[in-house]
Amino acid sequence: MVIERARNRLWRQVAFCGVVLACVIGWLTLLSRPDRPLQPLALKANTRDSERPTYSPDIRVNLTATPRENVRLSVDGPFDVRPVGTTEVAGFGKQLRACTVSATKSGIRVDDTVYPMTRLEIIPDKSPAIWIEGRQYRGRVRFFRKSGGKIIAVNVLPMNDYIASVINGEMPLVFGRAARQAQAVVARTYALAQMNRKHPQYDVFASSRSQKYIGHKYRDSKGRLLAGDDRTSREVARETAGMICTYKGKIFTTYYSAVCGGQTALGTTVFPDAAPPLQSVPCRYCQSAKRFQWTVKLSRNEVSRRLGTHLKKQGAVEGLRRISPKRGEVPSFEALISGRKQTISGATLRRVLSTTKLPSPYFNVRVEGNFFIFEGRGHGHTVGLCQWGAHGQAQSGRTCLEILQYYYPGSDIVILEDM
Ligand SMILES: [Zn+2]
Repeated sequence: MVIERARNRLWRQVAFCGVVLACVIGWLTLLSRPDRPLQPLALKANTRDSERPTYSPDIRVNLTATPRENVRLSVDGPFDVRPVGTTEVAGFGKQLRACTVSATKSGIRVDDTVYPMTRLEIIPDKSPAIWIEGRQYRGRVRFFRKSGGKIIAVNVLPMNDYIASVINGEMPLVFGRAARQAQAVVARTYALAQMNRKHPQYDVFASSRSQKYIGHKYRDSKGRLLAGDDRTSREVARETAGMICTYKGKIFTTYYSAVCGGQTALGTTVFPDAAPPLQSVPCRYCQSAKRFQWTVKLSRNEVSRRLGTHLKKQGAVEGLRRISPKRGEVPSFEALISGRKQTISGATLRRVLSTTKLPSPYFNVRVEGNFFIFEGRGHGHTVGLCQWGAHGQAQSGRTCLEILQYYYPGSDIVILEDM
């Protein structure tokens, strides 16, 4: 029995090393041929587990958008505590009931124990076991002490586990399979582009600041336990394992948004690092989305107060006029305050007035009595893949690859070997 286990372990180690080596070769193949686009691959639906390699690199997800005084933690089974980046064991336990993690002058406190270090990692024997702030995560968690006596929590987990959760965080379960496959590919590509930035502590945020990662399990406002990743999202992650978008052999940041409202935005008008495939394309596939077109009414007082504070000018806003942009570009506006004209971009105007009330910067505005009426389209920055549009395309029978090449024209969809 012992020998059998040892033999199994040896085989696992040999297989793992082989997969790692193959992955490295795959990466080198991709990175060393910038002038030779890789061949687009056909995506096989319903790919069985055994047909796909299972190795995937770890990604580091910042769970705390800003550093906090403390973080609630529990661990369901045996675990080790280690300084980040070492194999040294600083502590261990059979389980950890709900407790808090906080920074102290001499280190980091976990429950009643203070570890004299500025960064530590909690590694469970089995995953998923870690709960942070009432949400369960796969993989392990790192805590970093920050200035002002605060800490951040970073979840480190295999890429495909992360993708399986992001698919559900970013797209409803009822969306078409091909749309969710496309979501998996753009989420993976986006994540790898962020990993290339080589931040010392984390690669992405768990929120829509990067992309929405909801962990393995969580409780809703009524206390019900819900799945972050589930069978179908894990299947989609496996079907698309290793698939990414490239342009001339290189990864690019695959920005995407909820609803484009009829036309996606030209990437360079919103993001300075936008790659050539982030072109403005027409999209009639998102018409069933609630925010395909919208109307918002804001009082002249509210607009005057917010815009006046931003422009450092007193007085009522007498007029607000759109300056017509080119197709796919963010519009600009001309505001008339106390008889003086001032130009302001649509993105800034949206931020100043309210990003929650105005779903996108693509709107017209007119005056009606004491109100400004904003009539707009889309939700988000509208660059790249339109999520509701991808759903519409999936429903009309388009494949994952067709959807990706529609929203990122000129890109190649390739697979990182053995990833
Ligand atoms: Zn659309």
